[in-house]
Amino acid sequence: MHNAAIINESIHADAAAFGIGPAPTGVESAPTGIETKHAWESMRENVQNHIRSLNFKYRVNLREKGVSYLNKLGKFKDAHTLEVTDKKGRVSEITASRFIIAVGGRPTPLECEGGELAISSDDIFALENSPGKTLCVGASYISLECAGFLAGIGHDVTVAVRSILLRGFDREVADKIGSYMEDHGIKFRKEVVPSKLEKVEGDKIKVTFSNGETDIYDTVLVAIGRQADTQKLGLENIGVETNSRNFKIPTKFEQTSVPNVYAIGDVMEGCPELTPVAIQAGIQLSRRLFGGSKEPMDYKNICTTVFTPIEYGCCGYSEDEAIEKFGADNVEVYHKSFMPLEWSLSDSRSVHQAFTKVIVDKSDNERVLGIHFVGPNAGEVLQGYGTAMKKGITFQDLADTVGIHPTSAEEIVTLTVTKSSGEDAAAGGC
Ligand code: NAP
Repeated sequence: MHNAAIINESIHADAAAFGIGPAPTGVESAPTGIETKHAWESMRENVQNHIRSLNFKYRVNLREKGVSYLNKLGKFKDAHTLEVTDKKGRVSEITASRFIIAVGGRPTPLECEGGELAISSDDIFALENSPGKTLCVGASYISLECAGFLAGIGHDVTVAVRSILLRGFDREVADKIGSYMEDHGIKFRKEVVPSKLEKVEGDKIKVTFSNGETDIYDTVLVAIGRQADTQKLGLENIGVETNSRNFKIPTKFEQTSVPNVYAIGDVMEGCPELTPVAIQAGIQLSRRLFGGSKEPMDYKNICTTVFTPIEYGCCGYSEDEAIEKFGADNVEVYHKSFMPLEWSLSDSRSVHQAFTKVIVDKSDNERVLGIHFVGPNAGEVLQGYGTAMKKGITFQDLADTVGIHPTSAEEIVTLTVTKSSGEDAAAGGC
């Protein structure tokens, strides 16, 4: 769905500048734009079919590895016995010497009058009909990503922001993303939360906000965090501790308070809520349990990307976190605003630039503490730098690396301007 937004945006913003437009109808002029219509139903069906095919492949992979797949609901009876119930309500028991809990999280519901009228980010992907005018509640990853792709395919979208955008991410970058989204037609209602939702005009939803203002939407999408789905696992029966706030499980090297029970992924306290993190933790745990490995999972320097639909990839510390941890005197920032080549012919892109910054520790040979990149294909750009960060690279290592020309990724290895110099981050070049 992010890709749908990127394609639509490119058709509208860039295509004409590259000479791509509707077939001429006798008029001999350069194309000035392309009228498009987005068919939600086609996209949804194709996406759902793709997900079904992925699920099928997972099942095949499990079978090939000799893993039994049981579609049943589990609840601990004792530390070695799980009671499982199938769809027909038939109950049986499974015993095992070890268990791994990896049930993930579920969206936190909106606790206000009429909150049940809202859908969650899980629902949007399967929504039968186009969501129309949409309010996205929440201002982090999920809400902004949904707002971004819905606006990118042509919907009227508003985001209700309780406090700040993208808490925990680099502030300077979060602000750039906010202004990019605003310039792409997304409206922000700042420092409000919905206090009441009610059905009006048939299927529409009237939202009253905490500041007393109201508006009417076709869809209200809530993405205000996720809670670990551990409450019905019977963990209390076996003494696995959970956090009463978010129901997550505290662990030491993925081991819970009950030695033969492990937890990985979103159920684990302190684990970044990212699928590849859970996969990697599972691989490392299996190697330690059964392969003689002593390597713990490394939860530091994990790359991630936010797709709004402008892409923001990052790895390591934000500038604020780095200053807090290492002291302002020890932190230097190399930064650059630049125009990606693929945007450079298009007038409508000229108000925006891509941006990158590398944060270093001056007291430790300019060791790289964080890399941030806002621009096309940020996820693709950052992945390799993630490996480099794991190896503890310095700024000089980046500077010694030959760039690939003409790419946006090369901007990271050609940085020269420091923030402390006061020089403008905007740079020319070819
Ligand atoms: P989140 O990161 O926990 O952020 C929750 C957002 O909702 C914050 O903006 C928060 O505002 C707001 N909020 C919380 N309670 C609220 C309330 N009662 N009313 C209004 N706003 C409220 O949650 P998320 O965006 O749902 O994401 C969940 C996790 O999924 C993330 O940790 C992320 O790692 C993962 N994720 C990753 C990707 C990716 O890799 N691309 C994509 C999607 C999700 P405050 O700042 O005021 O607290």
